[in-house]
Amino acid sequence: MTGTIFDFNGSKEAGWSQPEPISAASLELIPQQLRRIKLPEWPRASEPELVRHYTQLSQKNFGIDTGFYPLGSCTMKHNPRLNERIVQHPGIDRIHPLQPESQVQGLLAIYYEMQEMLAICSGMDAVTLQPVAGAQGEFTAIRCIQEYHREKGESHRDKVIVPDSAHGTNPASASMCGYQIIEIPSAHDGRIDLDALRSAVGDDTAAMMITNPSTLGVFEPEIAEATKIVHNAGGQMYYDGANFNAILGKTDPGRMGFDAVHYNLHKTFSQPHGGGGPGSGPIGVKEHLSKFLPAPIVGRREAMEDEVGVGDGHWYHWVTPERTIGKVQQWNGNAGAVVRSWAFYRRYGHELETMSEHAVLNANYLRHVMMNPDPNLQIHAMPVEGCPADVVKHEFTLSMSPLKEANGVTGKDVAKRLLDYGYMAPTLYFPQIVPECLMFEPTETESKEVLDKFAQDFHSILAEDPEIILSSPHTTPVGRVDEVWAARNLILRHNKPQDLS
Ligand SMILES: *Cc1c(COP(=O)(O)O)cnc(C)c1O
Repeated sequence: MTGTIFDFNGSKEAGWSQPEPISAASLELIPQQLRRIKLPEWPRASEPELVRHYTQLSQKNFGIDTGFYPLGSCTMKHNPRLNERIVQHPGIDRIHPLQPESQVQGLLAIYYEMQEMLAICSGMDAVTLQPVAGAQGEFTAIRCIQEYHREKGESHRDKVIVPDSAHGTNPASASMCGYQIIEIPSAHDGRIDLDALRSAVGDDTAAMMITNPSTLGVFEPEIAEATKIVHNAGGQMYYDGANFNAILGKTDPGRMGFDAVHYNLHKTFSQPHGGGGPGSGPIGVKEHLSKFLPAPIVGRREAMEDEVGVGDGHWYHWVTPERTIGKVQQWNGNAGAVVRSWAFYRRYGHELETMSEHAVLNANYLRHVMMNPDPNLQIHAMPVEGCPADVVKHEFTLSMSPLKEANGVTGKDVAKRLLDYGYMAPTLYFPQIVPECLMFEPTETESKEVLDKFAQDFHSILAEDPEIILSSPHTTPVGRVDEVWAARNLILRHNKPQDLS
């Protein structure tokens, strides 16, 4: 069945279970001038038609619940159903942000514990849960750094350094704060070029933003030297925590010398994401930046005699940091996302180190099997030239350049063909420094069987007639879409088909 819900209008006669929109008796109560002249043209589907329509729509969508989702840099891991049970607890999902502290002690305690936990595993001193995306966390932290420089009388610092392998949100966030971006090239092996960094820093450096391991999946062993170079120039170090799944429990950005970090709760700490939400991108900062954090954050003190808290003898309350940059989000962040990640942490907190070990193991295993195709295969993908990565962390990149040279099949074509095999495509053309890049991140929640099957299917694709790959996907509801047109002409409203012109 195709089309929109309005296509069900034909079934008016039979089976529909909606009441008439307005009964005659209620119509009498509405003053004449407020009545609509024409009834709205709502779809008139029956309940079973409605259920079928939306169920079929949902089945056209691909998600982690329907198959392997190796989207690099996005950490698409299984979302434990326990998280959903907990977030639906009435004491959590039936409350309002304007309720007084005395009525929301439970949620405040969860917030507090989450702040503490994130501070501990990142080596930071203070955390706010307010930003609702990693990108918003970046913006928030860079604003805190900006205020820090201003307070020291150093507002002339107007440049933020980012490596060329950075996620696009890094330069975008810094530039939204009014900074100029200095991009430094990666060295041949994909690591930071320390000499390039040395010549980029100066008394105009406000900060450097970097993720470690990098988007190539490569851990930067000289990160302490990089932080020293930036700190000596008076700049601050910002850690893009999107790749946290690779290092949790092993090391932390605090130890590497960073001053601020964001966490993508919807990546590392397991919750459904994709398609723009819902997310949560808390930030953590070292002591010297903490007074600038957006308000409010949650504080804790001993409960007074007449205060009934959560039974741990404490009273949780909202706190406004002394020189706060203000709010970056309405209310107090995405509470549902925070609670889900808190539930994940309470369940798996003692195993976070094992979690990242398995994520790294899975990435290395998958890379190994994908890179060792059947010797009879004529064509196979190579890693980008010069990219070291005998050992990667949680994700890895492959360049499809040899394939393109051999028969014109690009990375994008291979990604499209993977859809026919029932997989989500890997991340495409990112990082941009890898030509014809495909980036894979299996995460810790996939089994060896899934990875073996995926590698096998990948090799089958490489051995296929190029025409089949070039014209793929063949099994999806829509084929290749014009992405530019779709992005420029976003249709976000449900309109009747004739209104779509
Ligand atoms: C996902 C990601 C971001 C941005 O996070 P959002 O939550 O999508 O805004 C930043 N950097 C890297 C490396 C990422 O993978």
